[in-house]
Formats: sequence, C-alpha cells, structure tokens
Amino acid sequence: MIKVGIPRSLLYYSYFPLWRAFFTEMGAEVVVSPETNKAILDAGLRSALDETCLPVKLFFGHVLALTGSVDYLLVPRLISVEPKAYICPKFMGLPDMLRARIPNLPPLIDVAVDFSRGTGNWENVLSSMGRLLAGDRRLIRQACRSAQAAQSLFQEQLEKGWLLPEALNGAAGERGTERPAPPSPGSGRLNIALLGHDYNIYDEYISMNLIKRLRSMGARVATADLVSQAVIDEQAGTLPKKLFWTLGKKMIGAAFAFCDSGQFDGIIYVSSFGCGPESLVGELLARWVKRRRGIPFMLLTIDEHSGAAGLVTRLEAFTDMLLRREKG
Ligand code: SF4
Repeated sequence: MIKVGIPRSLLYYSYFPLWRAFFTEMGAEVVVSPETNKAILDAGLRSALDETCLPVKLFFGHVLALTGSVDYLLVPRLISVEPKAYICPKFMGLPDMLRARIPNLPPLIDVAVDFSRGTGNWENVLSSMGRLLAGDRRLIRQACRSAQAAQSLFQEQLEKGWLLPEALNGAAGERGTERPAPPSPGSGRLNIALLGHDYNIYDEYISMNLIKRLRSMGARVATADLVSQAVIDEQAGTLPKKLFWTLGKKMIGAAFAFCDSGQFDGIIYVSSFGCGPESLVGELLARWVKRRRGIPFMLLTIDEHSGAAGLVTRLEAFTDMLLRREKG
C-alpha cells in the first residue's frame, strides 16, 4: 500500500479531514507526523533558514520526522483558498524551500491551490493529486466526494463548538453526533477569546499548553473556529480597506464578532516571531478592538526560545487584571 505522509503542521489544522478522506479512499495509507516535541522542533531549527518564521521551521521538523518512512509527502503549493484573497507567501514556497534544504526527500505532492480568480476548486486540486498516484477516474471522483463530505462535516462541527483537536482526531464523528465535550469546560469566571493561527494555538508544545493553562486559571476560552465564514466575511468587511490575507481576515472578523457579542472579558492574540502578515494584523487588531469595545487586549509573541514561566506570569497578570476590572 502506498504511504502518503502529512506533516502535522501549518494547514494540517485546516484541511486534514479533506486530505485524510481523499487519500484513504484512494487506497493509500495516511501517515501523520507525531505531535510536536523538542526533537521535532530542534530538527526543524537546524534545517530551515534562520530568517523564516517559527511555524515554517516547525514544518521542516515535521517533514524530517516523516522522511524515510513514506512514499510521498503532501506539501501543496497553497496560494489562495478563496477569490481575491491569499494565504501567506511562505506557504506558496514551501515545496521549493524543502527541496533546497532537505536532501533525500520523498516525492512531494505539490499541486498548486489557487482559487484567487474564483475559478479553482478542491475537486480539481484533489483530482490532480489523485492522478499523481495513478488512480483511475472513477476512484478519484468517489474519493473527491468523500473528501468534501468529511471537510464539510469538520467545518460544521467547529461552528457547533467542537474543539478543533477533537474534530480532527475523532475522525469528525458521524453527522448528527453530539459533540463529546462542551467547548469551554473551564469554571468560567472569565470569558477569553484566544486568537492566533490554528497551527500555533492548537499545537500544545509550541503554545506551551496555552488553552489548558487559561482553563486552569478559570477562564472559558473561545477561538475563531466558533465563528462562521459568513460572519467573518461580514465583520472583516467593516474595515475601511479590504484585507486580502485569508488568515488575517479570519482573526479580525472573529475579533469583531467577539467584541460585538459583548460577552468577552479579554482578547489574547498569539503571534509567532518572524511572521510578516501578523505584524500588520496584530497592529490592526489592537487598534480596532480598542475602538470598537475597549476590551483588554494582550499580544503574546512566541518563538523557539519562549519559556513557560514567562508565559504563565503574563497570563496571570492579564487574568488578574480582568478579574479586578470585573469587580470594579
Ligand atoms: S502567516 Fe506568518 S506564521 Fe504563518 S507561515 Fe506566514 S509568516 Fe509564518
């Protein structure tokens, strides 16, 4: 059986159900790299260019964890997943960066994903991937249908409040299944919106267990995945100028929706060191959150040297301030 490796990093957190269902239906075995650990991060740091951002360095580590044990590696050349908006350019260059830096890579499935002109779609992208595996046309069509059904179920579950790791790991369950746990099982003294790229906030190693730590401090945590794409588009559309970064738009649209709901005591925005788009998005968020509702806002920048002690101190200071504000 052909083994297709999928690095547990970057847009794994957005599209794994789609990719897993497709390759499984095609008769391949899907192999995912282990959860991030020190060895994976260190390997990525040694291999990637110093100048790149932390998530890309980590992606290198996940690729190295799979190299040698799979027949193909899935590294799509992601350019755009919606009309007139783009993913960060580093995603576009990932296949080239990997080939330039890692010897003996397995063949990459590096089909381009570019929906910016409003013409592309996942069916075409998946069909191109399927042809690389020499699948017949009927099998590819069937695999495309299964993949899209798995992805739409995943999206539905996120909007219903499933936690992203549960929706990913639980094979997204069956349609109509109740979610396994409430979205925010903390004691609920504070409601905190946690914003940041999925590949940062849901990677427990790199985020230093941020979600669990907030919960242990009594906070209920909501992330941008709870907000539907329609609401994100509508809210981000209230900015005076259109944002053409898909990932940044998600953060801003969700932040505005959380502000307007009036239910949040504070917003934490996690950004990674070396991220170009986030230097703009973080600034926009800080300004507009203040203007719209005056909700306390904290920016947390993580890098490979971040330590848990510094993180805990900042979280404690932030949550204490929110509690004092509530009482006052
Ligand atoms: S959006 Fe930022 S963190 Fe993500 S890949 Fe691009 S530069 Fe890196």
